[in-house]
Amino acid sequence: MKITLCRVSLLLVVWLLGCAAAASADPIEAPQPSEAALRYYESGIFWWWVGRFLALGIPAAWLVSGAAARLRVGTDRVGRFWPLSLALFFAAYQCVEWVVRLPFRYFAGFARDHAFGLSAQTLTKWLTDSALDLGITVGIGIALIWIPWWALRRLPRRWWLAWTAGVVPFAIAAVWLQPIFIAPLFNDFGPMKDKALEQKILALADRAGIEGSRVFEVAKSEDTHKVNAYVTGFGSSKRIVLWDTLIAALEEDEVLVVMGHEMGHYALGHVLVGISRYVLFAAVGFACLHWIGGAALRRWGDAWGIHALHEPAALPLLVLIASGYMLVVAPLQLAVSRSMEHEADRFTLELGRDNEACARAFVSLQRSNLSNPRPGPLYTLWRMSHPPLGERVDFCNDYRPWEDGEPIRYAPLFREEP
Ligand SMILES: [Zn+2]
Repeated sequence: MKITLCRVSLLLVVWLLGCAAAASADPIEAPQPSEAALRYYESGIFWWWVGRFLALGIPAAWLVSGAAARLRVGTDRVGRFWPLSLALFFAAYQCVEWVVRLPFRYFAGFARDHAFGLSAQTLTKWLTDSALDLGITVGIGIALIWIPWWALRRLPRRWWLAWTAGVVPFAIAAVWLQPIFIAPLFNDFGPMKDKALEQKILALADRAGIEGSRVFEVAKSEDTHKVNAYVTGFGSSKRIVLWDTLIAALEEDEVLVVMGHEMGHYALGHVLVGISRYVLFAAVGFACLHWIGGAALRRWGDAWGIHALHEPAALPLLVLIASGYMLVVAPLQLAVSRSMEHEADRFTLELGRDNEACARAFVSLQRSNLSNPRPGPLYTLWRMSHPPLGERVDFCNDYRPWEDGEPIRYAPLFREEP
């Protein structure tokens, strides 16, 4: 009897432990978006439409109103030598565009994020950053724009091939320079402050088979309450960057999941894939500029006062076609991006096998960034560079090939098993 009672209580304990284990393994659901998150989502859609209207409308207005032709007359008068006249036209165009779009950027970016409690940025910092952005665009443009225009003048039929060849070194140089020279102009980058966490991240990187990885913490809390981390740079400038807001908002095991995801981008060579994708889309885009631009000038060139694509006044036409092209190819480009993000999620799951922390991390991201975890299909198609957070949480819950003895896709990349 005594033995039976013991057995019963033992069974009871085992059953209770089983229940507890089952409860802790319960999948984590992406919560329903809050009312504020839904309003943020809908206001984002509204401002996206306004943004697309401006991206097409402003260059179209430059052409149809004859402003482009008139500006060209003015810049020709000041700069007799064509590279100088072109640089002046470019600078004037960018400055006018900056001023015209300023109210849009204020409402869609600064005011909207403040209204939803997502921004800590002062108006002065926002204006300084915007002006700095313009200064960098104009500075680089003035220094370099003569190069593509030289090809445009010298190779009227094949300039777009020359542009494609030129965009390869340009893209590599831009990706290499950006984290070293451009990004630090806007925010303070430095080593991680939490040294214990840094050690865990470096140990994780070591397990992921990443040699000499560099992790930077950036003081984004002066700009935003949103959270993020990313991989950037190329070759010697390649690095993982963590926003300080992410470190503050996420639990340590969640930060490690996010880092595992970024290491996935690193180990799977996604920066290089990104550059190749950019070059491919650019090549098709340049061909579109050539064919559509030429056809548009034959049809409306007289009315606009522009007769050749190499004229500085054709710049708004090239911008207009490029804006239309990017809108059309966005679903394809974003689908490629979502697929890479999904593989980086797989990488972090296989690396850490911490499904629960992974799901919690994405729920934290959803809450911190006021995201809609399950946006509509058109929104996903045209806007989302990452899979919707609801899908990412589901994947974190479900992806456990190691439990069924199935192959681990990225195991050959790892230095050691978890
Ligand atoms: Zn990513």
